[in-house]
Amino acid sequence: MDRNQQLFERAQACIPGGVNSPVRAFRAVGGTPRFVQRAQGAYFWDANGTRYIDYIGSWGPMILGHGHPAVVEAVQKALVDGFSFGAPTEREVELAEAVMAHLPSVEQIRLVSSGTEAGMSCIRLARGFTGRSLFIKFEGHYHGHADALLVKAGSGLATFGHPTSAGVPAEVAQHTLVLPFNDIEALELAFQKHGAELAAVMIEPIAGNMNFVRTTVPFMKRLRELCTQHGALLILDEVMTGFRVALGGAQSVYAKAIPGFAPDLTVMGKVIGGGMPLAAFGGRRDIMGKLAPLGGVYQAGTLSGNPVATACGLATLREIEKPGFFDALAARTRSLVDGLKAVAQDKGIAFSGDSEGGMFGFFLMPTLPQNYSTVMTTDGPAFNRFFHGMLDRGVYFAPALYEAGFVSAAHTQADIDTTLAAAREAF
Ligand code: PMP
Repeated sequence: MDRNQQLFERAQACIPGGVNSPVRAFRAVGGTPRFVQRAQGAYFWDANGTRYIDYIGSWGPMILGHGHPAVVEAVQKALVDGFSFGAPTEREVELAEAVMAHLPSVEQIRLVSSGTEAGMSCIRLARGFTGRSLFIKFEGHYHGHADALLVKAGSGLATFGHPTSAGVPAEVAQHTLVLPFNDIEALELAFQKHGAELAAVMIEPIAGNMNFVRTTVPFMKRLRELCTQHGALLILDEVMTGFRVALGGAQSVYAKAIPGFAPDLTVMGKVIGGGMPLAAFGGRRDIMGKLAPLGGVYQAGTLSGNPVATACGLATLREIEKPGFFDALAARTRSLVDGLKAVAQDKGIAFSGDSEGGMFGFFLMPTLPQNYSTVMTTDGPAFNRFFHGMLDRGVYFAPALYEAGFVSAAHTQADIDTTLAAAREAF
């Protein structure tokens, strides 16, 4: 008796599609979603008691693996003192200081409960600060499901966007310009036409919602210059990359290639909460000072800075701050990607892959794509066969080809070797 199937049928009767977030439903790859019973370290067990090596880690937060003892202890201690107060706590200040110590561009920070909330609040803040309405996002980038961000490109360059979701008024989408990613010409054209009306540009520095696609260094450099020149704010969405690709986030990676590089605002989530509902946004003090209660940009939350979530996030940050943490994580992640490349090559399969810190992506194509339209040329059915081939062998990759993957500190070389042996068979 397949308990996953049983649960999925029960779930579909009471929850739309049987899931509380769409990608979990396995719509893209087909088959039955695995219902997770428990997880420990690099593994989770489904409702049948089958074990999987977990390369999703809750879509990023579980950088230490599941059930890290120091994090469990911190959460247990915090729980006893109270679940939520709706009043300030010392731990919020500690978490704010810890983030600021690693991200020099963040001079002040506000805690919220999801990446969506953080991204949405950043857009409002950017508009309030600049007094402008328009902003730019890039094709294939995901910044949460706020109305203004669920927008796809219109026809032609630098035209206004169309909603990607029913229920988003066209009037809302019309303030969002959607540009092709890594296309300097399109970016320059958009600034030329609309520079004076632009409040902000929001970008995933390493896009993780179209698999894994880096912003090219020349593109990031030009983007920073254009924003500064036209008085538009540069917002880095580091919900996925923050505390994941490096302790200082993707901005620290780009600052190495572009001297003085820094965003005006940063959106954070996932690892910062260690698996609890916690996200944040922060940046220049003059901008953050426009937030209520100091300024006129309203933003609030009953559970913001939740004492249990902050305990979880803080304990997670304390572990990843330890010397050598990211070097070891990056090496392990590279060994997975390099191993997959080698196996694919052996089997004569077109394959490319990339990683930074504990985040990776792979493509069933010979070279790494640089934009969304190239990612979308991937052979979907082939990816789905590979996904199920791996799943059948106890390896859980993202159930969609346009998602990045994650390695945790709990993944051992033996886990990587098991994964590569499975890939050899699946290919
Ligand atoms: N921005 C990015 C880059 C993300 O990857 C995500 C979630 N995958 C979000 C924002 C939204 O975060 P949340 O799901 O916590 O609302």
